[in-house]
Amino acid sequence: MSKEFVARLVVTFVVTSMLAVSTTPVVTAQIDQPDIIQEHWYHSYATLTLDVNAWADDYPEIVNLLVVGQTELGRNLWMLQISDWSQETKTDGGAKEVVYIDGGHHGNEHLGTELAFLVAEYYIEGWVNGEQEVIDVLATTELHILIMLNADGNDQDTRWNINQVDLNRNYDHYWNTCDSTQPGSSAFSESETLANSIYMNEVVPHADLYITMHTGVWIMLYPWGKWPEQPSDWEMFHFIRDDVHSNISDIPIQNANQGLYPNCGTSRDYGYGVMGYPTFTFETDDEQFLLGTVEALSERLGEELDVMRYLIQNVWYWRARLVVDSLVVEDGKAHLSVSNLGHASTSNATLAYLDEDGELWFPCGGEEWLNLSIPGCGFGVNATNSTVTTLEFIDAPISSEGQFYLMYQKRVIDSSMWVNESVNQSVVEMKVGGSDLLPAPSMMLVFVAFALALINGRNSKFEH
Ligand SMILES: [Zn+2]
Repeated sequence: MSKEFVARLVVTFVVTSMLAVSTTPVVTAQIDQPDIIQEHWYHSYATLTLDVNAWADDYPEIVNLLVVGQTELGRNLWMLQISDWSQETKTDGGAKEVVYIDGGHHGNEHLGTELAFLVAEYYIEGWVNGEQEVIDVLATTELHILIMLNADGNDQDTRWNINQVDLNRNYDHYWNTCDSTQPGSSAFSESETLANSIYMNEVVPHADLYITMHTGVWIMLYPWGKWPEQPSDWEMFHFIRDDVHSNISDIPIQNANQGLYPNCGTSRDYGYGVMGYPTFTFETDDEQFLLGTVEALSERLGEELDVMRYLIQNVWYWRARLVVDSLVVEDGKAHLSVSNLGHASTSNATLAYLDEDGELWFPCGGEEWLNLSIPGCGFGVNATNSTVTTLEFIDAPISSEGQFYLMYQKRVIDSSMWVNESVNQSVVEMKVGGSDLLPAPSMMLVFVAFALALINGRNSKFEH
């Protein structure tokens, strides 16, 4: 008899006994699965299907339920989109923050799948109970949660999908370049990983947090799995590590290659290396292959849930956030003072100027966007720091009728998204012949939409 099989028998016995002695009447009005089962039996595809549909039926004001693909055996990939859908944007008109979470790549790692479920449950039930933290998060943030990616493997309690492929080696990032087993016949050969990547690229390319849930050893892993070196955005990952350790949990937080072992083609490395997301693999525990738990799930995973709440509540900080403190323009030179309020650095920032005829100008190169690492053409700003620089606009017809934009990448990693943000007119000072000119705001509005379209056209990874 294998060790796993004995352990499974023990849990089956204990949970069955607990159900037998329970005298509390089970309430089934709201959610099809009573709490005693929710808390002790891990989800099958069938019970997950009941639960997510019940949420969507009961709380349509915050829960959208989508089918975003099928497993190789044709089971639905359920995607929960959770936010306060009565508000399309934040109160300031800005786009909501986006968080992406998936679970269940490995069908025998049930606690990881349950943590993805618990996160959804925490925000849905918190909303129902009127908890202020949850109300605030859902007003400003969209949570996209795919709880069980490998439903076929989950129901067979196996790591692999039905084609005996390790889904977390099947992503198109240095696919099959490590000593990994069963990566599939090609990157994205499996319907589950292909569907996941399509959702990332088409629906949440602008997410500022991606967490993928597993179990194996109690640890949080950030990129890379492929290389032992720290990732480009090490400052952000180290800040999160230190903040979690100071205030929430002692869970080890390491680069995956060092903390675990070299691995390639993972959703984590793809999420960071291709999508540019701040990404963590959350390994909840060392337990695998069990189908239930004696200790209640919400208690067993309470600390992990606290870490998730912290990451979600602070998602605004997981990128560079540039704010122009002052911009003085004189003789074609833009003297810029800029602060970065975010916890990620940016190394590819510049100003763009939209003239009154709707033409865009860049420092150094007139209408061309030149190498931003050349001084005078672009600049960088470290996380939670500020920079003073001078950018030279050659031949640009700068006047008080135009508009300046800040253009930069959200993080240092090459794949991270570009943003463009208009510079607040109140901090801009134009000096012509020694005298100040005031801008004419009414003229600006005409050009803003046009400018955004122009800038967006430059790079498909611009945020909309
Ligand atoms: Zn795993």
